Amino acid sequence: MASADMSPAYEMVIGLEIHVQLKTRSKMFCGCGVEFGAPPNTHVCPVCLGLPGALPVVNQQAVELAVLAARALNCQVHRRSVFARKNYFYPDLPKGYQISQYDRPLATGGWLEFTEEGGAGGRLSIHRLHVEEDSGKSLHDRFPRSTAVDLNRAGVPLVEIVTEPQLRTPAQARAFLGRLKQTLEYLEVSDCNMEEGSLRVDANVSVRPAGSGEFMPKTEVKNMNSFSQLEKALGFEAARHVSVLQSGGVVEHQTMLWDPLRGEARPMRGKEEVHDYRYFPEPDLPTLEVSDELVEELAGRLPEMPWEKERRFVDEYRLPAYDAEVLSASRTLADLYEAVAQSTSDPKEASNWVMGEVLAASNDLGVPVERLQVDPEGLAEVIGLVAEGTLSHNLGKQVFRRMVETGKTAEQIMEAEGLRLVSGGDQLEAWISEAVTENPTEVERYRKGEEKLLAFFIGQVMRKSQGKADPGRTREALLKRLDQG
Ligand code: ADP
Ligand code: MG
Ligand code: ZN
Repeated sequence: MASADMSPAYEMVIGLEIHVQLKTRSKMFCGCGVEFGAPPNTHVCPVCLGLPGALPVVNQQAVELAVLAARALNCQVHRRSVFARKNYFYPDLPKGYQISQYDRPLATGGWLEFTEEGGAGGRLSIHRLHVEEDSGKSLHDRFPRSTAVDLNRAGVPLVEIVTEPQLRTPAQARAFLGRLKQTLEYLEVSDCNMEEGSLRVDANVSVRPAGSGEFMPKTEVKNMNSFSQLEKALGFEAARHVSVLQSGGVVEHQTMLWDPLRGEARPMRGKEEVHDYRYFPEPDLPTLEVSDELVEELAGRLPEMPWEKERRFVDEYRLPAYDAEVLSASRTLADLYEAVAQSTSDPKEASNWVMGEVLAASNDLGVPVERLQVDPEGLAEVIGLVAEGTLSHNLGKQVFRRMVETGKTAEQIMEAEGLRLVSGGDQLEAWISEAVTENPTEVERYRKGEEKLLAFFIGQVMRKSQGKADPGRTREALLKRLDQG
């Protein structure tokens, strides 16, 4: 990993700015829709086009979602906050400014706990959370030699979450972001669809002599929408900073763009263009007021958080922490698990099936768990059929997969596809005879005392029967046959 390449004489300092699109029906300050993928410039109006005289009106749903996020991140929500104009010139910014919040944000001072792969835990302080609008989008590949502008996204509601510079490795940054994304998904505050740009990260990074405590000049890698690329970009930048420092140079405060194809970060704009945004309070909007009653009401609407669910799964279903974590990845998966667990007498076995077969089906069929056709009671039935020995584990897996693919019941599939255990009769005898006659050397060795070869013969029968031979009966019949020596 990149940070491991870094000389131990240095440590990284990382702080993140995360932009998250709120799951609203309409834009932040007008009634335009927010659907992703609409034809360019079809979701626009005088307000989000910035036409003279048009006045913004605050989207209450956006404010409520932002408050929910702030509460889940343990922030203090301010009863009064102020919208501000952030002025800059860019073709995709029709008003010439973005409405954001500056010195009086909606919320400040929170934290979120996260666990790194391997178990190390951490708590990252959140500096602030504020509400703002998105800009439009410049399209460079639409017309040859010219740039087109799509303003559908202009005015879409965002929260920006700014962390303190407390992360020390790219892996920590990734672990934190994973937990943040999961938390926002649980809250249904955002769909966090990174391919569609509803979660984008600006990563600030610097390096310093290990343990020094000072803050060195940072660079900012803009607009990352992949956690693994972000990890790479942070590693790349840190190594670059170290080599600048080691050669006696000074790191320039710069904004960088990550090129995933080349695996390198390049400066986005020159130093001479460093912005002065000339923030000032938005004159067209009143102070944003959030009442105590609203904050309280919203706090009551917070769902069970992922870390609470994990703890409950361990307590209530006696699951290993690992299972609890995997099953709590999304609310849909967790709900599915609970429905299966409650229809079986063995919650750990239910966990094995959901973590194993449900996730495998989702993966193999390329269908997210949210849209996978799984009937929890049907899965519980299969688990029961395996437990009582009507199906082998292998057959159970096949039956379950066919249930997901066809929507039929276990009974229908076992009937139609002959997916039943063969526990006696000519068929079983035939497989056993073949296994024995095809392997005379093994038969001889077994009869001379190598009893562990029984497993080999059982395996042969299983292979011939494609998992349909009843393992118990196969064993009995094989013992009888081999001992007839
Ligand atoms: P700026 O004024 O450049 O926007 P801020 O103080 O607002 O800087 O911080 C922006 C982000 O950069 C925050 O997430 C913060 O944690 C992070 N940050 C600040 N200083 C450093 C540093 N020296 N190294 C790495 N990250 C930093
Ligand atoms: Mg900043
Ligand atoms: Zn509009």
